[in-house]
Amino acid sequence: MQVPFFTTKHQDARYGATLRQAMNAVVESGSFILGPQVKAFEERLAAYCGVKHAIGVANGSDALFLAVQAAHLPEGSEVLTTPYTFFASAACIVRNGLTPVFVDVNPNTYHMDVSSLEKKITKKTKAILPIDLFSHTANNTALKSFADAHGLAFIEDSAEAFGMKWNGHHAGSTALAGVLSFFPTKTLGCFGDGGAILTNNDAVAQECRIARVHGAAKKYYHTLVGINSRLDELQAAVLNVKLEHVDAEIAERAAIVAKYKEGLSGLPQAVLPSVPSEASPVWYVFAPVFENRNALASALQEKGIGTSVYWPKPLHLQECFANLGHRAGDFPVSERLCEGTLALPIYVGMGDSEIAYVCESVRSFYK
Ligand SMILES: *Cc1c(COP(=O)(O)O)cnc(C)c1O
Repeated sequence: MQVPFFTTKHQDARYGATLRQAMNAVVESGSFILGPQVKAFEERLAAYCGVKHAIGVANGSDALFLAVQAAHLPEGSEVLTTPYTFFASAACIVRNGLTPVFVDVNPNTYHMDVSSLEKKITKKTKAILPIDLFSHTANNTALKSFADAHGLAFIEDSAEAFGMKWNGHHAGSTALAGVLSFFPTKTLGCFGDGGAILTNNDAVAQECRIARVHGAAKKYYHTLVGINSRLDELQAAVLNVKLEHVDAEIAERAAIVAKYKEGLSGLPQAVLPSVPSEASPVWYVFAPVFENRNALASALQEKGIGTSVYWPKPLHLQECFANLGHRAGDFPVSERLCEGTLALPIYVGMGDSEIAYVCESVRSFYK
């Protein structure tokens, strides 16, 4: 049996014809940039996420860059974030002339540990940038209180968090700005790159709309230096179709994880991810912590099972951040997660026999 880490083939079998029709309609319309598909998608996305504004951009990394830029932090400000994440979470800080200050994550949630924030505050601290990883958001209630109490901007890397809620609030909806990525593997994925900024703040929304077209509120008249970063009509057309199916797909992902949890229960070499009671999870990634992770990944590969390591190296040990002066041991929880987590296959249309095969293969590795 072959179980890929990710595939869109079942979605294609179910509603590929509708997707092709939608893409054909864009080709026939001749409107490819900032047209009716993007406008409709932005409105529907904002309504879905419970925010006033959604601004479509070229990818999640640009969404982060533009969200941080729109916060207008003084040059050299420090932004608190975590080292157990995708590179873009810290790159957006550095590329805005700011300094990332890392705090470790909580070993149970994999998220920013609110209790370790206080001791990282200096006169230069101006923002927090927590990350929502894998299945649920960071503790947005506590993080927002902390940010408000210290006068910090709260920017949320909710790139993975489409559909996730904390205390009933959608990811990205309680921050100054949140972001989404529509990278193909994400819960709501397009057929290439795509992203969005989510905000309830009119000024942030207005600035991001201008900044995604080189800072020109009026074509060729530039009020600020922005970038070229737009969601295109083809991707928006795909997303408009997929948005119709995404709630059912989120439910399907939850059912897959329930079967994984059953199939792997009682295995002493695996720590299965837990979800805090305040969270309404969306299982974008299912990544337990495994003993002897690398050998397990190779053994599964030999059995035709795809897996993924999120991420092999924490950000504080990346070569490009050597100037921050960190060394191994500075953020032990993040380092342990980088060594121990392994994301198992999860995709729409994954069958019971495939889930059972993955679980059996994991169990037989430890026998
Ligand atoms: C996917 C992702 C992003 C943005 O990704 P793009 O590929 O630029 O769309 C940012 N942060 C995290 C945590 C992500 O997982």
